[in-house]
Amino acid sequence: MSQQPMRGSRLGSESFEQDTNKNLSPRQTCSYRCANDHITEMIFSADAEIPVAWGCKQCSLEGALLDVNGKQAFETEVPKTPRTHFEMLLDRRSREELEELLTERLGELKARRARGQADATNS
Ligand SMILES: [Zn+2]
Repeated sequence: MSQQPMRGSRLGSESFEQDTNKNLSPRQTCSYRCANDHITEMIFSADAEIPVAWGCKQCSLEGALLDVNGKQAFETEVPKTPRTHFEMLLDRRSREELEELLTERLGELKARRARGQADATNS
């Protein structure tokens, strides 16, 4: 490690411990790549069980473990994009239900407008 003054560094991303005169336990560096092509490197103990996915440090996606050639090591399902609110909504309600709700709400809105009530004064 260099002897330069410490600059701003992300907490926990590196150790400031001096490596000299110490027997480091064997370790391995593993790389993870998310769908946005960010590489996240993690250091594990050599005998640790390596997780096949790791949360990307730059975005909210999960990165997949890469092998030494930089290829995805396991055929893990890595989500391409974070789930949207709409996708989560679809877990709770079917499209038919949503169409029904929309029609219902639009009907109420039209009826309210027909009575001459302003939208903002009602909730
Ligand atoms: Zn990422």
